Amino acid sequence: MESFTIRTSSRTDFKDITNNIASLIANAGVTKGACMVYVPHTTAGVTINENADPAVMRDMETILDRLIPWTGSYRHSEGNSAAHAKSTLVGHSVTVPVQGGKLALGTWQGIYFCEFDGPRNREILIQIL
Ligand code: ZN
Repeated sequence: MESFTIRTSSRTDFKDITNNIASLIANAGVTKGACMVYVPHTTAGVTINENADPAVMRDMETILDRLIPWTGSYRHSEGNSAAHAKSTLVGHSVTVPVQGGKLALGTWQGIYFCEFDGPRNREILIQIL
């Protein structure tokens, strides 16, 4: 298992971590298999989406905020229920095939760490299978 940490810079922050993961796979010397990326946090997640036009992830933030507003009739005393709900909605892991020593992502795909209650230091776990 490999891991690395990142620092997010705002309450909602989508960080493209594709290159970090590609480097780990290259250093591990794995040519064929799969890579599981896991986020061990309850107010963050990980997803795959377009990394060509940054507007896509900004729209994702708008859409998630519309679906799950920050304030509402929530019970959780910490006051960050929206972040917990977004975390569950987005999910905590993605698995990407590895072929020829590279992530078999589509042309427009990138792997994004999704912060929903930042800024914070966050950990990302990578299991190469
Ligand atoms: Zn909480």
